[in-house]
Amino acid sequence: GDLGTEQRRRVELMKSSSESLTIVINDILDYSRVQSGALRVVSKPFKLKDIADQTMDLLQVTAEKKGLALKLEMDHAVPEWLSGDPARLRQVLVNLVANAIKFSERGSVRVCFSLLGSVGQAVQVRCEVIDRGIGIDPQQIDYLFLPFSQADESSSRQHGGSGLGLAISRQLVELLGGRIGAMSNSEGGSTFWFELPFETSQPAAATATLGTPEPK
Ligand code: ADP
Repeated sequence: GDLGTEQRRRVELMKSSSESLTIVINDILDYSRVQSGALRVVSKPFKLKDIADQTMDLLQVTAEKKGLALKLEMDHAVPEWLSGDPARLRQVLVNLVANAIKFSERGSVRVCFSLLGSVGQAVQVRCEVIDRGIGIDPQQIDYLFLPFSQADESSSRQHGGSGLGLAISRQLVELLGGRIGAMSNSEGGSTFWFELPFETSQPAAATATLGTPEPK
């Protein structure tokens, strides 16, 4: 029904508090799931550009609200279709892009995919999430990938979060056989990157017709 100004303010506060709490609970659940070895990695064909676009779409509004431009740069050498775990890839990407937005007040957040190398069907893909935000102290980089760690003690009060996002991302990337890291940019801001092994793949429809037919 109709809410007065003060009531609306309180309801909105409840809504944003419950959203923050949900993020923290989901982070803890994800972290424990990987820790307990209960997380299964799948391998299926997917289009890398689709995963990147979905991530950008998901976070576009948050970036716009802060006046940040969100840009995707996909190197032409990266194969269009890959075989791997698209859900885990998206989870890592969402984590890094959401952080880049969270810790930036100006400029843009660029997501750049490139091909590191290929041998036969096997490819190594690198992704960099580059921001012009508050930056990171190089001495703190390794510490940030540990669970419950944040660069600034006041950060969780100011920006929310659990300090688990990067720990989860590292677990997932390592589970997928890759590496993750970060560096500060010389012109300010930071770059978080990960490198993952995939196989090149045929489009999903083509592999489906080659594989076992779906049960009716
Ligand atoms: P959370 O974001 O929930 O605090 P994370 O594990 O995702 O937890 O990040 C840990 C800490 O790493 C953050 O609190 C912040 O101090 C630092 N950090 C992460 N991403 C960035 C970034 N893009 N720029 C600056 N600092 C960052």
